[in-house]
Amino acid sequence: MDKGRSTMYEVNSPSRESKTLDSLSLFIGTGECNANCAHCAGRAHRKYAPEEDGILNEDLIRQTLEDCHNQGARYLSISSSGEPTLSPISITKVLRMTEEIKHCGISYSPINLYSNGIRIGEDQQFCDDHLQSWKDLGLTTVYITVHDINEKKNAEVYGVKSYPPLEKVISRIHKPGLLTRANLVLSKRTIHSPEKFAQTINHLQKIGVDSISAWPIRGQDDTLDPNLAPTSEELDQMGEWIGKRDPKKGKIVLLRENSRIKYKNREKLTLFPDGTLSNTWCNY
Ligand code: SF4
Repeated sequence: MDKGRSTMYEVNSPSRESKTLDSLSLFIGTGECNANCAHCAGRAHRKYAPEEDGILNEDLIRQTLEDCHNQGARYLSISSSGEPTLSPISITKVLRMTEEIKHCGISYSPINLYSNGIRIGEDQQFCDDHLQSWKDLGLTTVYITVHDINEKKNAEVYGVKSYPPLEKVISRIHKPGLLTRANLVLSKRTIHSPEKFAQTINHLQKIGVDSISAWPIRGQDDTLDPNLAPTSEELDQMGEWIGKRDPKKGKIVLLRENSRIKYKNREKLTLFPDGTLSNTWCNY
């Protein structure tokens, strides 16, 4: 067992520092991705991902859902070492499982799906086939990672030739009644000045994003990237700008190092493709 990892046994162990979990994140799917980000932290986990969509360790996932719920977790997120929307069968299976365990009094809400948005923006058939049924199975929000509101810049960071218009991605998520959250990655290569930050938030709210979470870019070792992250002063100014903003325009959260206390206190756990449960995202 690698240092820093925990197992299913430890979730129930009386030695855990915190008795209350807040949320659980499940890694599912093949690890395939339609983007090629230079900073990808998912790659290290792909060797443990199944080769085919739909292959899940169902017993382990069900047990983890039950154990974490018993420890207080109510928020669930679905993520992947690649792009989850490329593994729709696995997403459907997990959502069905969350429906089934409701009969045993185990209910997660909200349930959120992480995505780079590319398939949603490019594949109408995929949206027609899945988004409504996932909403019916309890999915609440799709989290779209945004590097820049400029499509070319966004595509550049994603390592793809083109990125679909964000307006299209957002409207396709909204169509079946799902919510959208933009996860804004702040970096010197894209958004780092308080002015650009304000301009980006204004634009995202204008195109209908329901909520926004922003954080400074982190390295593959899960620590702040000192070369690319905005400075403390810039982050302070962004925080001040948010403080003056009318909250009626939508929720904006700026996640800084002190926001990671939940991870440190193990209130948030992730089930990784190799079957370990950890409070550290990059636990290899
Ligand atoms: S979209 Fe996510 S999983 Fe895909 S390459 Fe980028 S960081 Fe990695």
